[in-house]
Amino acid sequence: MKEIYRDLNLTTVRYYKSLLEDEGIPVILRNEYTTASGITSIPIPEFYPNISVLNDDDFQKAWEILNQAQIKANNSDVDIICPHCGEPNPGNFEICYLCNKPLPEQSA
Ligand SMILES: [Zn+2]
Repeated sequence: MKEIYRDLNLTTVRYYKSLLEDEGIPVILRNEYTTASGITSIPIPEFYPNISVLNDDDFQKAWEILNQAQIKANNSDVDIICPHCGEPNPGNFEICYLCNKPLPEQSA
């Protein structure tokens, strides 16, 4: 098992987890509730939500998937508003993180 991604933003961590699972890569999410529960008001990276690939062999592939996703994220800082629930999603999301409905293609 190898940790591949760690971020204070649980939405992003969850999104990357689902991206990897969609590719058939088994991952586990840890510290999901640490930040939400208010255990600490000072963010400590040690306790950030993080995902690990279960099989070390998947690490390279998983890393490439996340790398691609991050490149996309850097290229799109405009939020996509979900047409189903109205929630703003980061521009690289293809599925609304809140209601799991597909988001419209960005016209940019
Ligand atoms: Zn939605």
